[in-house]
Amino acid sequence: MQIEKNTCLQLYNTFGINAIAENFVIVEKIDDIINIYDLMKQFQEWHILGGGSNILITKNLMGITIYNQLKGINIIDETDTTVLIKAAAGEKWNDLVQFCLQNNLAGIENLSLIPGSVGAAPIQNIGAYGVELKDVLVSVDAYFFDEHNSITLTNKECNFGYRDSIFKHKLKNRIMITSITIRLNKTPKLVIGYGTLQQQLEKMGIVHPTIQQVAEAVNIIRTSKLPNPAIIGNAGSFFKNPTISKFRLHVLSEQYADIPGFALDDMNFKISAAWLIEQAGWKGKREGNVGCNPLQSLVLVNYGGATGKEVYTFSEKIVQSVKQKFGIELEREVNIW
Ligand SMILES: Cc1cc2nc3c(=O)[nH]c(=O)nc-3n(C[C@H](O)[C@H](O)[C@H](O)COP(=O)(O)OP(=O)(O)OC[C@H]3O[C@@H](n4cnc5c(N)ncnc54)[C@H](O)[C@@H]3O)c2cc1C
Repeated sequence: MQIEKNTCLQLYNTFGINAIAENFVIVEKIDDIINIYDLMKQFQEWHILGGGSNILITKNLMGITIYNQLKGINIIDETDTTVLIKAAAGEKWNDLVQFCLQNNLAGIENLSLIPGSVGAAPIQNIGAYGVELKDVLVSVDAYFFDEHNSITLTNKECNFGYRDSIFKHKLKNRIMITSITIRLNKTPKLVIGYGTLQQQLEKMGIVHPTIQQVAEAVNIIRTSKLPNPAIIGNAGSFFKNPTISKFRLHVLSEQYADIPGFALDDMNFKISAAWLIEQAGWKGKREGNVGCNPLQSLVLVNYGGATGKEVYTFSEKIVQSVKQKFGIELEREVNIW
């Protein structure tokens, strides 16, 4: 394991931000983590990097940046109806999806084409088209830096929520995820009720889809709506959909009859952040090298050469203008470094 000095991170983050990691190290084996522990103590500051698709780097990274490249996808158990798969944190999430599709294992087909690593998937409980990681996750293996040992968290212990988990709170910066275990079904229980997915399957003329066809439909929607980070820098949805009370939604709907709200329970509604941003006039807006995507206003883009600070400042203007117009404070989904 070698420490590389002053590594350019532009190719390690999907926003394409040009920042430097003072010390950069690649973890390829579990044993490397023991050495990492010593380095972390020495450098005090650290960042764990997966595919860099959910971060915005606003400054050069001091201390040590740890690039997770632990590999391996294995079937570890099976019953007549289900299969347990253990995947190492440094695998690409979409490679895991492909592995499952090839082996006819159902459960994560809706999460096809989400960029990033397996290890980051539990951090924000990745989700798309009506499915979240928590629906299939059995456990998470991690290295716990405080106690210098490996731990396993059950699904329940991960405290999953909408784009949320214990790893964003109590365990933030205290663990490195090394692998996850998921349980998939041999006979699919498809989740195809999500509006755009249903419409896409209809367009494809498919009534009883296979999991491969669901993934194909998801891929078509994603590639038509989301800018490809290889061409134009972005980190997917920059903001979370906010939750507001039934009362607040009622008040807002008197002024904005078409405000889209989805009931979470009797008292709370989720509001489309994309709609709020669009109504505040940001959709398609560009300032210098930063912009709000014209097709999907939740996505902020780097048109080339933007700094992380510029993207952050742009995002702050959106937060403030949505707050002023609707009294709702948008929360960033992307991790700010
Ligand atoms: C075009 C595009 C579309 C997207 N679509 C979706 C979507 O549909 N649904 C969705 O949920 N997300 C989506 N995302 C966001 C992103 O893909 C996910 O959040 C993904 O899980 C991030 O993985 P990563 O490896 O790139 O994480 P990184 O960006 O590298 O890291 C994200 C956070 O996780 C931490 N982390 C990473 N690996 C580990 C580890 N092994 N142990 C501990 N901490 C770790 C990092 O320190 C950081 O805080 C999209 C992003 C893009 C660019």
